[in-house]
Amino acid sequence: MPRIAVLPGDGIGQEIIPEALKVLKVVLSQSQKEFTFQEYAIGGTAIDKFGKALPEDTLKACQEADAVLLGAIGGPKWDTLPAMERPELGALLPLRKELNLFANIRPIKIIPALLSASTLKEEIVKNVDLVVLRELTGGLYFGEKGRTTEPAAAYDVLVYTEEEVRRIVELGFQTAQGRKKKLCSVDKANVLESSRFWREITEDVAKKYPDVELTHMYVDNAAMQLVRYPEQFDVIVTENMFGDILTDLASMLAGSIGMLSSASMAGKKGMYEPAHGSAPDIAGQNKANPLATILSAAMMLRYTFGLNEEATRIEKAVIKVLDQGYRTADLAKSTEKVTGTKEMGDAVVTALS
Ligand code: NAD
Repeated sequence: MPRIAVLPGDGIGQEIIPEALKVLKVVLSQSQKEFTFQEYAIGGTAIDKFGKALPEDTLKACQEADAVLLGAIGGPKWDTLPAMERPELGALLPLRKELNLFANIRPIKIIPALLSASTLKEEIVKNVDLVVLRELTGGLYFGEKGRTTEPAAAYDVLVYTEEEVRRIVELGFQTAQGRKKKLCSVDKANVLESSRFWREITEDVAKKYPDVELTHMYVDNAAMQLVRYPEQFDVIVTENMFGDILTDLASMLAGSIGMLSSASMAGKKGMYEPAHGSAPDIAGQNKANPLATILSAAMMLRYTFGLNEEATRIEKAVIKVLDQGYRTADLAKSTEKVTGTKEMGDAVVTALS
């Protein structure tokens, strides 16, 4: 029986994961499929309970599971801990590394009912349908870091190996082949040696994919183009930090970061999580939008288990509830009625049946 390790984590993670599980269980029972879901502690919650952001039991369960469903981690309560003990550096990054989840996939497609929820003009966002592939286990976030005293300074080293670049760029070309066959590689090759290296390897990989049109773009220009004319993009492939920043920016094309799902993959195995964080400002208030997590669960069914029909059913149910006018606070205009986290999950369940 397929096994899912469920990691609610901190803040709104504790509220959005139950909604995604509710939806998953309904859709799986409709298809007479049986999965096991087992919860484990991670992040600040795990620090409070076990003294460690990534307890051994949690890591082992994630290694043995077919897929991992994660809420979000972190929060002000743990921000004063030494950097490597905090939820992000102590749990999220090592978990990605241990599971070898080198590719983060974030689809961004505008749902017509949310056209007016974007902070950008409707004519700019109406045809947006793009995927950002972010390298997830290399680069600046994983390089050597430290401080010196004479002079007082701090450093983070940005290193990419050929193998690390090649595998994410290959996936970029393959993803583009299944879509509009356009790949844009984002770098900063005018300044960074690591980017010039990235570009050379990308050009080399491109020889294997003559059917895909490859372009290169500097990251500063990419940030501008994403808000100026986003429909020009099909698939974007980029390194870890550039991808981190660009995906948050791109989330606003879809109306709210609360709508953006993501998958972090190593082959078929994946960790599925919303693109946002633990939102401490709204945690515990039934205000969080659970749709990004519900859509991440749909990605899990599609990418890890090949359950395309079930994934599509969830995606259609999400579109239906938005068409019906359900809006969490992050999506609602001042005149619109606001739906809570639980009620949004319930509405998706109703739309499924
Ligand atoms: P955040 O994404 O948690 O919140 C940014 C803003 O978006 C907040 O105003 C928040 O209320 C809103 N928001 C986020 N998700 C929402 C949702 N589902 N529904 C409605 N509104 C939503 O980012 P932040 O404030 O920079 O970080 C908060 C904590 O989360 C920090 O500890 C950070 O390190 C952590 N974080 C974790 C992850 C992760 O677990 N993958 C990712 C990013 C940040």
